[in-house]
Amino acid sequence: MHYRKIDLEQTSDYFSLNKKTPFIATGPCAIESIEQIEQSIDFFSSNHINYIRTFPYKVRTSPYDYQGIGDDILPTIKKLKIKYNIKTIAEIYSQKQLEKCIDTIDIIQIGTRFMYHRELLSDLGKINKPIILKRGFNATIQEWLLSAEFYLLEGGHNLLLCDRGIRTFENSHRNSFDITSILAVREMSDIPVIVDPSHILGKRDGISKIVKSALVAGFDGFIFESHPDPKNALSDKDQQLNFTQAAELINDINNFYKKLL
Ligand code: PEP
Ligand code: MN
Repeated sequence: MHYRKIDLEQTSDYFSLNKKTPFIATGPCAIESIEQIEQSIDFFSSNHINYIRTFPYKVRTSPYDYQGIGDDILPTIKKLKIKYNIKTIAEIYSQKQLEKCIDTIDIIQIGTRFMYHRELLSDLGKINKPIILKRGFNATIQEWLLSAEFYLLEGGHNLLLCDRGIRTFENSHRNSFDITSILAVREMSDIPVIVDPSHILGKRDGISKIVKSALVAGFDGFIFESHPDPKNALSDKDQQLNFTQAAELINDINNFYKKLL
């Protein structure tokens, strides 16, 4: 199989990978209120994090769990994005949502459950909308890269892959970290690959160790979850970092990365 080359310079530029720093994005699992998201954006942008999770919709396994704040928050996100000069990231999973979010969300996350949504990937490719394409929890590397092809084939070239763990027989953590995925992707493709340690572990403990091992293995950065008050979060409360822990992690990542250069 021949995989398409991407415009690595443009992608690196968009995701700030040219400066030889890892990509770092964070923010709450889901938006819960105007105060919660503004507090998060204010804190992280003043800590030099310009890629921030601003999720109006939340993909949940159960229809009885918190589904996100919904469309009404979009004008607020737009205002905050301009005020703080950040790039917003959110998962969307339908063309209807895409239409509503197109000017508000800069980077569309395609989540693990929607890696196979070829029609959406093709539509995003046609308009070269920046995306983060997560690995399906049961997808091989080849299937993951082939999903990326649906985007690339239509002319899209602004994308990151994100490994967020896969489902194995092991259930001590939410997922299993396939640290070898970076080696396999690098043999076939030049698309940068980041890691989501929050959804791999499902808990706060161990995130710092996992991100360091990911840097050693050659991954290009991270997206992790943080919340002003994780214990009372409406989703994923066990894995979100509070702001002090998140700032420490960001420091750790940057210092460790410098040592590897
Ligand atoms: C998320 O990032 O909020 C998320 C649900 O991730 P994943 O699709 O990897 O489970
Ligand atoms: Mn989450």
